[in-house]
Amino acid sequence: FETLELRGVGRTYGSQVALTGLDLTVRAGEFIALLGPSGCGKSTALNCLAGLIPLTDGQILVDGARVDTEPAERRDFGMVFQNYALFPHMSVWKNVSFGLEMHKVPRRDITPRVERALDLVHLREHARKLPAQLSGGQQQRVAIARVIALEPRLVLMDEPLSNLDAKLRLEMRTEIRRLHQELGLTTIYVTHDQEEALSMADRLVVLRDGRVQQVGTPEELHDEP
Ligand code: ADP
Ligand code: ADP
Repeated sequence: FETLELRGVGRTYGSQVALTGLDLTVRAGEFIALLGPSGCGKSTALNCLAGLIPLTDGQILVDGARVDTEPAERRDFGMVFQNYALFPHMSVWKNVSFGLEMHKVPRRDITPRVERALDLVHLREHARKLPAQLSGGQQQRVAIARVIALEPRLVLMDEPLSNLDAKLRLEMRTEIRRLHQELGLTTIYVTHDQEEALSMADRLVVLRDGRVQQVGTPEELHDEP
């Protein structure tokens, strides 16, 4: 796609306003960070995009066509969850191939796509292991491979590094940026870590109490108090 547009997106839970008036236009290939403290509405925004929860206001459009009325499976957006959400009883390989099977990708295409995704995250040699036999960082990379293999038109990430130690978090920032660039992925990345957002994103959307406080490039935001 060329553009993804959020127009006045809002979500309330009962009387609780979690998100209101979110306007944003994302261009293909951009890396956007949604930044803000806990409770500001980041996960709500991401879950609305993913189609995991319905909006209570506004619209989401891809190249001018509404997608917020489409079920999650029809949006072709891939989500990397904070807790990875791997299938514990499936091997690394199967965790990655399962989604392709579900999407009825032809069998002969599945093997090369899984191989490529595992190569990209440097996990090919661990393909036979179960998630529990891997380190946290490796599990996190399986979760990324699983999404990459599906070749979604938009990648959504919800605090994907928050369960990793400081050293690995720094490594994975670079790794996620590298994958983003090599694959030309359009990415929306949720974090409460300002430094992480500034170091990774092309543009940042700063949320506070469910509203957009600032939008800008790292340079633009850095120059403000
Ligand atoms: P963040 O991801 O930035 O921590 P959330 O989107 O999870 O923020 O939450 C935004 C606000 O909405 C918070 O006040 C939170 O308590 C509330 N909220 C989130 N999910 C629910 C829910 N299922 N029911 C009621 N309130 C919710
Ligand atoms: P995070 O801050 O990491 O985004 P939370 O711990 O706020 O996540 O929320 C975890 C889960 O609990 C989410 O599914 C969210 O929708 C739900 N949730 C958050 N706040 C509330 C709330 N006040 N009432 C009910 N569910 C909530």
